[in-house]
Amino acid sequence: MSLIVVGSMAFDAIETPFGKTDKIIGGAATFIAWSASNFTQPIKQISVVGYDFPEEELKVLEKRGVVVEGVQIKKDEKSFFWSGKYHMDMNSRDTLETQLNVLENFDPIVPDSYQDCEFLMLGNLAPSVQLTVIERLKNRPKLVVMDTMNFWMEIAMDDLKKVLAKVDVLMVNDSEARELSHEFSLVRAAKKIMQMGPKYLIIKKGEHGALLFHEENVFFAPALPLEDVFDPTGAGDTFAGGFIGHIARTKDISFNNMKTAIIIGSAMASFCVEKFGTERLRELTKEDIDKRLRQFQELVNFEIELV
Ligand code: AMP
Repeated sequence: MSLIVVGSMAFDAIETPFGKTDKIIGGAATFIAWSASNFTQPIKQISVVGYDFPEEELKVLEKRGVVVEGVQIKKDEKSFFWSGKYHMDMNSRDTLETQLNVLENFDPIVPDSYQDCEFLMLGNLAPSVQLTVIERLKNRPKLVVMDTMNFWMEIAMDDLKKVLAKVDVLMVNDSEARELSHEFSLVRAAKKIMQMGPKYLIIKKGEHGALLFHEENVFFAPALPLEDVFDPTGAGDTFAGGFIGHIARTKDISFNNMKTAIIIGSAMASFCVEKFGTERLRELTKEDIDKRLRQFQELVNFEIELV
């Protein structure tokens, strides 16, 4: 009756046109857990960190219903480190540095208490690790969702294709969808990608919202127009957390419920970008989330008379 989240837990250093951070807490699974725990608990986390990762960070997550039995602590290695620099449009970024460190030889452990999970969220991480987690689950979850990024497409495409064949939902951004399919049109790209395995595809377009594809159906969720975007890092993972958190709470994997889930993902992502790293997600209340969801309702609700 629960959700497994797999992904990096890391240190990030971020530069935007508006500011710069030293090493702060980041990582795909970190953002996913902060976001999803607003909707469903327990969350069973699988990741790896080094000696330098603050224990306190794992403790605050535990307080939010995140089980960390599957988070390995490597006493003689450093945590994963990523640094990136955003362009003026805040939609595109360059990776300045990726230090895999503990991720280099990560052999994920799936504790017995994690077996029989209904939902699996494969956050950004080496595709071979994502695949190992799927293989180490005795029963296939009801829904397997996968996120990935261009970095893995460039160095581990064969492994990535093996994972794709085993998942139900893939989430990527528009440039990654183009890179994966070699198609410019996102509609064509979606068709090609869905032939690789996933029955559902979500293409994230940053400040331009997200598209959900399934068979011949397409649904669009906008991003909330915000006055200030401070740091987009983790927005995709926060989106994923909102999406899978809602699905796990409702246990409904229909296309219709996925439409609601991508609106919730978009609402959660809109908080993430308001401050650096996970800062904004840590202070959120249920009232903040409800208020933002109402803003989304107002943003997209309109009546039209057919001519
Ligand atoms: P997003 O902005 O949603 O794409 O996610 C950014 C997060 O992904 C950062 O917190 C990074 O630590 C993490 N990240 C960046 N590159 C990788 C990678 N190659 N593998 C796993 N996690 C990564």
